[in-house]
Amino acid sequence: MDGTATVEREKFSENSAEETRTEQLKKRLESLFREVAEVEVELSRADGTIRGVPHYSLIEERAHQLGQRLSREVQQRQMGEVLASQSLTAKCPTCGIRCELESCQRDVKAVDGLLKLQELEGYCTCCRRSFFPPAGDVGV
Ligand SMILES: [Zn+2]
Repeated sequence: MDGTATVEREKFSENSAEETRTEQLKKRLESLFREVAEVEVELSRADGTIRGVPHYSLIEERAHQLGQRLSREVQQRQMGEVLASQSLTAKCPTCGIRCELESCQRDVKAVDGLLKLQELEGYCTCCRRSFFPPAGDVGV
């Protein structure tokens, strides 16, 4: 058997598996968008925010708030993924000693509203100060 052909075939099946996963996720997302929109419309009617024939700006405002809420949720989850992939130590920017990092929560004002983001913070016992590891230094 030709080794090159085997490698090519494995690469192809890996790619098609990834494409399948990507397609599955896109379809799931589309389905969830439709469901969220349905629930939002039903909720707006149930809680009385939107009745009869409302001014269009009311519909738009509520839809926009939902979008912003989704944006904040995605941003928080993305930052959680970033945090999970980082090392739990970093060099102190002042003395260079490697320090343990701990997870802390910070309020961040983003374009789509206030977020509570998880970040890693270090404390150097030599310098007796806290620090946020600079991007790229973590885990070196
Ligand atoms: Zn230090």
